Amino acid sequence: MRSARPPVLIVGQGLAGTALAWALERAGIDFVIVDAGHAGAASRVGAGLVNPVTGERWVAAPGWAEKAAEARAFYRDLEAAWGARFVTDLRIRREWRGEAEAAAVRAKVLRGELAPWLRPEGLEPGAAWIEGAWRADLPALIAAGRARWLARGVLREARLEAVEAAAWPGPVVWCAGAAETRLPDMKPVGGETLELAVEPAPGAGWREDVVRHDGVWVLPLDGGRAWAGASFVRDEAERAARREALRASVRRQLADLAWREFAVLSGWRMTTPDREPRHGWLPGREGREGVFNGLGSKGALLAPGLARRWVGWLSG
Ligand SMILES: Cc1cc2nc3c(=O)[nH]c(=O)nc-3n(C[C@H](O)[C@H](O)[C@H](O)COP(=O)(O)OP(=O)(O)OC[C@H]3O[C@@H](n4cnc5c(N)ncnc54)[C@H](O)[C@@H]3O)c2cc1C
Repeated sequence: MRSARPPVLIVGQGLAGTALAWALERAGIDFVIVDAGHAGAASRVGAGLVNPVTGERWVAAPGWAEKAAEARAFYRDLEAAWGARFVTDLRIRREWRGEAEAAAVRAKVLRGELAPWLRPEGLEPGAAWIEGAWRADLPALIAAGRARWLARGVLREARLEAVEAAAWPGPVVWCAGAAETRLPDMKPVGGETLELAVEPAPGAGWREDVVRHDGVWVLPLDGGRAWAGASFVRDEAERAARREALRASVRRQLADLAWREFAVLSGWRMTTPDREPRHGWLPGREGREGVFNGLGSKGALLAPGLARRWVGWLSG
């Protein structure tokens, strides 16, 4: 039986708000969502890649397998309940940028440090194959969530002001991304994604389950489309230069195919000095007002587990 407590107010329905709303729905806890629109949402342009070996130093993050298993189960549950597909398995062919990088990665692989995702048989002269990656289709996920909760009358399309949140009779969780962080130590990092139409020539090596990666990733989507992207733009002035570097990489990586660019998508993801997300009650507002933000470049991996923790705090 549902409680008589006032519903949880979720501010923002990007990935964080969607994950929280679904976790609450599963737990039978009432909620309402207010969202200002997806036009500026990071989740509308985020690639949603979940990659076991990342960074310039090719690192396998501790605890990755457990977090990835939890996240995957969450998206699979959503797929089954909503009758849609959100998860795609991928392999990543990542090129080295020079002999020093190649030597360092080969040494790690031969010591078994990157197993099971990168093994000796995955090494090539110019690149290495990373296994076990996948993608959560974030734009599809937030669009489906929006349609679901609009139809159920629990989502209002509006911008919520802080004063309205303060007057809400139940708990409020800010899932508002770059627009409204509510904490001082988050900063925006820009990302650029080029949307491409790809026409593989007969016999070309284009595969819909392989991400090409040289620092810039080229992610195959269905329908002959692809996204190419990279993040780390600190301000608008940096964007133009970064975009040209992105295009140069795509020209090189897709030299075996015919392709054309038909859109540029830009967004801001929030990051924190310690690279840990910010989730929990605001100081002095325990039980009343909290944040779920700062997901950084690993939102698809982290959001499901953090949503589950929020359910624990909200059901107490
Ligand atoms: C180019 C790019 C590439 C990325 N690639 C990856 C990747 O490969 N893998 C990965 O895991 N992550 C990736 N990310 C990061 C990931 O997309 C983010 O971590 C995640 O989408 C953040 O979700 P969010 O819900 O916190 O914020 P958002 O998606 O920005 O959602 C915030 C929502 O809150 C709403 N809102 C804000 N203020 C208010 C208000 N006052 N009232 C009502 N509504 C409000 C907004 O309208 C918006 O809909 C990428 C990000 C970018 C930009």
